[in-house]
Amino acid sequence: MKGRVVVLRAYQAPFEIHEYEVPDPEPGAVLLKMTQAGICGSDLHSWRGDRTQALQPVSAAGQAMGHEGNGVIAKLGKGVTTDWAGRPVKEGDRVVHWSITACGRCRSCARGFTNLCTRPPDKYPAPAGVWPYFTGTYADYFYVTPSRPFYLVPDQIPDASLSWVNCAMGTSAEGLDLARCGLGDNVVIQGAGGLGLCAAAIATYRGAARVIVVDRLPDRLALAERFGADHTINIDELDTVEARRERVLELTGGEGADIVMELVGVTELIPEGVGYLAPGGTLVEIGHVMAGRQFSLDPRSIIRGKSILGSSGYRHTLLPGLLDLMVKTQDRVPYDKIVSDQFPLDRVNEAMGVAEWAGKRTAPTRAVLTP
Ligand SMILES: [Zn+2]
Ligand SMILES: [Zn+2]
Repeated sequence: MKGRVVVLRAYQAPFEIHEYEVPDPEPGAVLLKMTQAGICGSDLHSWRGDRTQALQPVSAAGQAMGHEGNGVIAKLGKGVTTDWAGRPVKEGDRVVHWSITACGRCRSCARGFTNLCTRPPDKYPAPAGVWPYFTGTYADYFYVTPSRPFYLVPDQIPDASLSWVNCAMGTSAEGLDLARCGLGDNVVIQGAGGLGLCAAAIATYRGAARVIVVDRLPDRLALAERFGADHTINIDELDTVEARRERVLELTGGEGADIVMELVGVTELIPEGVGYLAPGGTLVEIGHVMAGRQFSLDPRSIIRGKSILGSSGYRHTLLPGLLDLMVKTQDRVPYDKIVSDQFPLDRVNEAMGVAEWAGKRTAPTRAVLTP
């Protein structure tokens, strides 16, 4: 039996669809039939050509695309009887997998930062055309290697709310956790895409006093309010940094923000976000997944106990809690609205064009591919 995999052969060229023999899972592995795969901002960097051969070389065989998504268990490898939380699993169960892998025995892993593993066992980006072939989520199947954690999805969560959990939701949860978001915090979120919407819901759940979301698209800002934002700031209406800073101060009773989440990857947002901070506050930098950008900052702007904290990926142990959070809050948080567009796998290039936001004002929050 064969299945399809979306392959990037060269930057700035359309993706190709290749067919490979569907592998039998080795002992400890699991084969998933993909239900859907989210198109993430970091995938767009590859498609758009922000990544270059010099920055991140693509081998002759290409890369298997996609890292977000969810599926159902098509086949269990020998010895797999439970998910990574010890719950029994069987074929047909819905699961989400960790979108990164960790060795468990490097210094970062030993210190608990499995998301920062220095020797991840599964290559990312995954080389195409190499067994087990189904190493990206833009595909009919996904091969969960024995070292890759996966978790059962509670029955109450619909498929429509799942494609981005193992990237956007995990990543925003990790950043808020690292900044110790908690009771009484004023939180400003820069960017109301998938990460920003998740961050609004999680910060609210963790007890933030005020959640303020900044973006330029009215429909995204309206959605942010449904995800828990107490206030929104439209940068087209408040079109100077100073006006936005004043607004943040006003909305926080003159206090400023304890946490600012930079989720967009626009360098000017870092000094702007630092300007929002209360004494002792933290700007969490997540948006810049691409190397090579610069910003300038007056060092004095952070000496009153302020910090800039980088966060990348998330620990897989957050996944069960995030799924439980969704079950508890889905009556009031419209998680299913994060996905705005669906495309079949063979229209992947069209889907990337729709998901593209750089240089234009896209309404889509997230596009997904469904095999
Ligand atoms: Zn992602
Ligand atoms: Zn490691």
